[in-house]
Amino acid sequence: MLTSADLRPAPAPLASAGPPALLGRDSAAAYRGMITDVAGRLADRFAAVDRPWTGAAPADLGPAIAAVDLDRPLASFEDAFDEIGELYLKDAVWFHHPRYLAHLNCPVALPAVAAETVLAAVNTSVDTWDQSAGGTFIEQRLIDWTARRIGLGPDADGIFTSGGTQSNLQALLLARDEAVEQVLLKHRLEVGTPLRGVEVLPRLRLFASPHSHFSVVKAARLLGLGEEAVVTVPADDWFRMNPAALDAAIETCREQRLVPAAVVATAGTTDFGSVDPLGPIAEVIAAHRVWFHVDAAYGCGILVSQRHRGLLGGIEHADSVTVDYHKSFFQPVSSSALIVRDRASLRHVTHHADYLNPAEAVFPNQVDKSLQTTRRFDALKLWMTLRTLGPDALGAMFDRVCALADQTWDWLASDPRFEVAAPPSQLSTVLFRLAGADDDTHRRAREALAASGEGMVAATKVEGRTALKLTLLNPETTLAHIVPVLEALARHGKKAQEAA
Ligand SMILES: *Cc1c(COP(=O)(O)O)cnc(C)c1O
Repeated sequence: MLTSADLRPAPAPLASAGPPALLGRDSAAAYRGMITDVAGRLADRFAAVDRPWTGAAPADLGPAIAAVDLDRPLASFEDAFDEIGELYLKDAVWFHHPRYLAHLNCPVALPAVAAETVLAAVNTSVDTWDQSAGGTFIEQRLIDWTARRIGLGPDADGIFTSGGTQSNLQALLLARDEAVEQVLLKHRLEVGTPLRGVEVLPRLRLFASPHSHFSVVKAARLLGLGEEAVVTVPADDWFRMNPAALDAAIETCREQRLVPAAVVATAGTTDFGSVDPLGPIAEVIAAHRVWFHVDAAYGCGILVSQRHRGLLGGIEHADSVTVDYHKSFFQPVSSSALIVRDRASLRHVTHHADYLNPAEAVFPNQVDKSLQTTRRFDALKLWMTLRTLGPDALGAMFDRVCALADQTWDWLASDPRFEVAAPPSQLSTVLFRLAGADDDTHRRAREALAASGEGMVAATKVEGRTALKLTLLNPETTLAHIVPVLEALARHGKKAQEAA
């Protein structure tokens, strides 16, 4: 029989214990002190933030962070906090600042931030019942609540994920495995010879508009279908999928003896905030019996909007829906979910392990429905937000940013220094150009703006040419915040043109 001495080299003596390192009964007072201290320091920091970013360069921050000796701890937590104050917080990008207008990042709901400290401290892992208890049911209630808002029936289910990328991946995994199962069944009935699932994969096709999120193509790659499995369905002048073109594309696919596995409609494209016509797409799909996935990572905020709910008409026909609460529900990263019409489809990600979730388990185990095993209890943040603020307040906040996008578009369209680069958004993005400026001028103007701290905007391409982009997700931002940013951009653009 081997002993531990045979398996491990001779150990050094145990180090003596220092001050409390772990959260537990004996460190409750230390915990209270540390969290109170951090909250105080952060509150001071938030009170002092006067611009979205300092514009720090990689050459400033990289070497300073590289110089830290991670093998030699500082004397105290306070010292370590002071250090990140310099290395991180001083030059952080502040999404809550009203002149942060760049990407799909939201200011976060206060109750959710407080909940984040709870879930980190308790450290619940929502994989099995015996690691989460009430957490399992809290997550499940939020899944059921979201499914009902979408309009799915009693068989709906789902799971919280790390983000829209993972939600889309899982949705397409379910679609892939459903399609393969159907092909194998048909083959057995009609041909009678055995066929293996992997032989079917090269024949599967996914359909998405050119404005769908890149995670769709990435998922196709990860799922063994290859990027070429994604068939691009043309969009209209408002960047929405054309349902007649979808119909034709699926028809062509069938004629080529390929297998249409899923249609991905986007409810809120990342660049344009356009919502594919879900109702007409659902009709096309019903005729072809293909998996219908709706990527509502951005547009999910409409689920709680009183004003715009009609925009999502048809979403109730989806087989699966991606929702990013960390975009339009004002939740801290990460908080996302995949919702499915039929809980049985989630069997494609189920694996029973004897030590964790044996097949004969009598308690609900969320891990049965997830790509992850150990998993954050992100649901608590949304729960606390709904129980404190309620869904109508969230919807009203999203309505406000959509209205602000309209106002901003009108302002840009009427000022000769600018030209709008896309029609008004159905959600909250605004695309525009500096009149008469080329790609390089736009790049320089945007960089100069960020470096000055006057504001932050994003950039993308529309029809091959650079356009600047605002993604409005801060309900406290007004046109009075945005106009000075636009004027600064015009100024920086002019300067760049003069220098060229
Ligand atoms: C942001 C986004 C995603 C990806 O979500 P992450 O949470 O960033 O992983 C997917 N689809 C759309 C339409 C998005 O806007």
